Amino acid sequence: MVSRVIPVDTFDLVIFGGTGDLARRKILPALFRRFVAGQMGPGSRVIGAARADLDAEGYRQFTREAIEEFGNGKAYDPKELDAFLEALDFVTIDALGEDGWADLAKLLDVGKITAFYFSVAPRLFGELAERLHRFGMATPDSRIVIEKPFGRDLASARALNESLAQHFDESQLYRIDHYLGKETVQNLMAVRFGNMLFEPLWNAQYVDHIQITVAETVGVGGRGDYYDRSGAMRDMMQNHLMQLLCLIAMEPPAKFDPDAVRDEKLKVIRALDPVEPGDIVRGQYSETEELPGYRAHVGHPDSRTESFVAMKLKISNWRWAGTPFYLRTGKRLRARTSEIAVVFKETPHSIFGPEAGRHRNILTIRLQPNEGMDLGVTIKEPGPGGMRLVDVPLDMTFADALGPDAEDIPDAYERLIMDVIRGNQTLFMRGDEVEAAWAWTDPIIEDWEARRDEPQPYDTGSSGPDDSLALMFRDGRRWREIRA
Ligand code: NAP
Repeated sequence: MVSRVIPVDTFDLVIFGGTGDLARRKILPALFRRFVAGQMGPGSRVIGAARADLDAEGYRQFTREAIEEFGNGKAYDPKELDAFLEALDFVTIDALGEDGWADLAKLLDVGKITAFYFSVAPRLFGELAERLHRFGMATPDSRIVIEKPFGRDLASARALNESLAQHFDESQLYRIDHYLGKETVQNLMAVRFGNMLFEPLWNAQYVDHIQITVAETVGVGGRGDYYDRSGAMRDMMQNHLMQLLCLIAMEPPAKFDPDAVRDEKLKVIRALDPVEPGDIVRGQYSETEELPGYRAHVGHPDSRTESFVAMKLKISNWRWAGTPFYLRTGKRLRARTSEIAVVFKETPHSIFGPEAGRHRNILTIRLQPNEGMDLGVTIKEPGPGGMRLVDVPLDMTFADALGPDAEDIPDAYERLIMDVIRGNQTLFMRGDEVEAAWAWTDPIIEDWEARRDEPQPYDTGSSGPDDSLALMFRDGRRWREIRA
């Protein structure tokens, strides 16, 4: 198999917040990898913008260090790094001030694709949009890339959408949920809609339930302040897990085109039933001998913010009525893993009798680590002794199946940035999608706040609070083990 690099047109990418953590860890290394892959052609430029007093040379040094630290440890030719750095420039700009804007406007080439990456705090989004407009840089061809979090509730998301809509059309807005850029997440669509095998079974008649788990081993790290105002529901559930749910549950779009896909995702969110309080479990990690607990970690001894949330969801439509979806995400859990498990029903009748045991097929899509999927198939246990059955995985680990090509799979940011340049919005969230997700999330959080709900403590290295296990046990089901 040969990796294909589809060239993109030359572009100017302006990174507001070009000296920030996200630019250093993700955006700049991703651009360098695309440069090495030959996708960022001569004439394309990356312009950092922030309040820092840097010149182009200073920004090149900043970027060199970022790539040395976060370049995935892959070997690269130093000459290629020098060539990439040549394409960099920097403008000192305050999103809230007037200086520097005219300099930026002069730097940009008319007629080239121009993308503005808003890698700054969301309170600056509207200010940036307004100044881009006022200084003549908001053209019908310009594109705006917006980082999460997109609001913290429906009202703030709406306000952000409105402030952007004053100067830009929805077709120019690229709201990032980096989960959508992951190779395996896109593979969800390929598996569902590129095979005859699964789609006829993909409904409540054949699927018993679906589990989505996104587990981390780390705690809140240095983001304590931000995280404590957000929690697992806002930080993970409303966006990443909701997007996975949409891709798993949506109807087949007529074509793989941005609005066709996003229309179907939106219908899933709108078909979600309100969640009963008894169908949600919130947790907070406790301290260990070596590590502080959540409250000490965020420096807020009375914090009621959740670092774990699990819930049972119902989708009220023809396809899914009667099939529950169980979602969970949390920090300081047993292993770092993200997976989706589609658990099929048992056969309606076992011709092998009770001694054959109970079996069901499970399609597991592993998003990380060890990206790939496996399908649990029931076969005869080898040897004499009657018809005993055993479940074995038909395993497809991408690294094995695709060989060396698997190593060249671009990471989420590489793919998403190139999609911005190509003008393809399929893997970005539309404004109405984000608002619908908040409209569903808001009553849940408001209920917790009104009841002053206390999250349950859970042990570091566990699978979350005991009640999250009970959430499935009481339905006669069990979570899949969290393991790397
Ligand atoms: P950060 O490390 O705090 O960096 C903020 C950047 O914004 C810096 O370059 C800063 O440079 C610049 N900035 C701050 N105020 C400014 C102003 N008034 N005018 C112009 N530039 C200004 O933040 P970050 O972690 O990179 O996050 C950036 C955005 O991405 C946030 O919305 C965050 O929620 C989101 N995000 C981050 C991550 C991550 O892993 N870091 C992941 C997902 C989403 P100066 O101080 O020099 O101006």
